Amino acid sequence: MKNLITTIGLEIHIQLDTDSKMFCNCSNFAENKAPNTVVCPVCMGMPGTLPVPNKKAIEWSIKMAHALGCKINLEQKFDRKNYFYPDLPKGYQISQLDQPVGMNGNVEVIDFDLKTNKLNKVFVEIERLHLEEDAGKLVHPNGKNYTLVDLNRAGTPLMEIVTRPVIHSPNEAKMFLETLKMIAQYLRISRADMEKGHLRCDANISLAEEGAKELGVKVEVKNLNSFRSVQRALEFEEKRQRKLLENSEKIISETRGWDEKRYKTISQRSKEIAPDYRYFPEPDIPKMQFTKSYVDEIQKQIISLPQTILTELIDELHLDPQVAISLFGNIFDVEHLKNTVALGGDAKKVARLMVQKYTEFRKQYRFLDIERFGIKPEYTLYASTLIEQFNNKIENDVLKEMFETKKSPEYIVRENKYQKMENSGQINEIIEEVIKENQKAVSDYKAGKMQAKGFLVGQIMKKTKGQINPTLANETLEKLLK
Ligand code: ZN
Ligand code: MN
Repeated sequence: MKNLITTIGLEIHIQLDTDSKMFCNCSNFAENKAPNTVVCPVCMGMPGTLPVPNKKAIEWSIKMAHALGCKINLEQKFDRKNYFYPDLPKGYQISQLDQPVGMNGNVEVIDFDLKTNKLNKVFVEIERLHLEEDAGKLVHPNGKNYTLVDLNRAGTPLMEIVTRPVIHSPNEAKMFLETLKMIAQYLRISRADMEKGHLRCDANISLAEEGAKELGVKVEVKNLNSFRSVQRALEFEEKRQRKLLENSEKIISETRGWDEKRYKTISQRSKEIAPDYRYFPEPDIPKMQFTKSYVDEIQKQIISLPQTILTELIDELHLDPQVAISLFGNIFDVEHLKNTVALGGDAKKVARLMVQKYTEFRKQYRFLDIERFGIKPEYTLYASTLIEQFNNKIENDVLKEMFETKKSPEYIVRENKYQKMENSGQINEIIEEVIKENQKAVSDYKAGKMQAKGFLVGQIMKKTKGQINPTLANETLEKLLK
């Protein structure tokens, strides 16, 4: 058995959520619009048109490069990358070759170890970040012998991020991508939804014997449409290459596609000859010169990054690490939590509500920004007390109505005349009654039979018509049986 080390490098494209496209003033919200309705002569590549760079896209890509620890180039230029493909109307893509937005970055990957309650310190080096435009989309109608082209996406601003080959496991690659997604969302520059193609990833992977001076033969893997498929495809490649090397067979330098249904990568084309894109400077866009203060000013706009927020949730708001991890991936959730705490909410109770209860509504209504969806911090503040004031069932009913109607939970409680069970004397009375009526279960419980306790709580719930909080019922029962 040879001791083989895996080396992975990633190339990621992230769409920027600017209002307009990269080089024209077409709307950048072309997703789900009728084909070829969000286009103009510039993004359709008509002869004689001139591109005008989008200032916001430049600013946001500098912001991202800062967040990835890159050195920002004060002088930047655009270049033409020439290739022929039917979704590329100009026959070239405007990209950046040797003076990109940023270079030589370093990103701390978010990999929280629940055993030690600490962030694992894993860093991924970034080779470069540059700005370019997206191409259109080809549509292949089922059973037809022709292909259609939709240019709505043509000209969408893209950031391309290239890592150095420093990642050593498929899991690490996945964690890195998730970190990138979070950073882009935290900076509010992209929704970075991988399933929707806002974030796309190509990977290259090679295996070499430990201590070898050179990396092994690289294989490129494409068609990775989810974080899970990145991990699975790389795991498959790792195994496939290991087997070949252990049998002293050769690895072919090629591009392979991930087949999500068959769980394997499939050879697409050989990569022996690198394509020649005949890059040259884009003659229609002058070189861009930025001042250091402009670039520094953009860095100052970065308020929070996921790495610091996770620490804040755990160390300052004292959330359980597991809860903090399920929350912090969405910056809007983090802000909603903080806004609710600022109104006097209990961080732990609010977090419990958001993680345990809101998740199903998020799935149902598919919102990203909870406050824009219509749930105000005041709502969540009151909703986080429902379980104590009432019980699980009433909590569920109120939340369901709240997400459906966007009415305040307080109003919903009043409207439905839900009864609180606050009077502890009344609760004690009912529980004592239950004890008296169920002596057999009481002695079973005292003998250590746990089912007996469940039975007694069930009786209490029945007597109160489900209007008592089960935790409270449990606690009171325990107290009275001592
Ligand atoms: Zn356009
Ligand atoms: Mn690219």
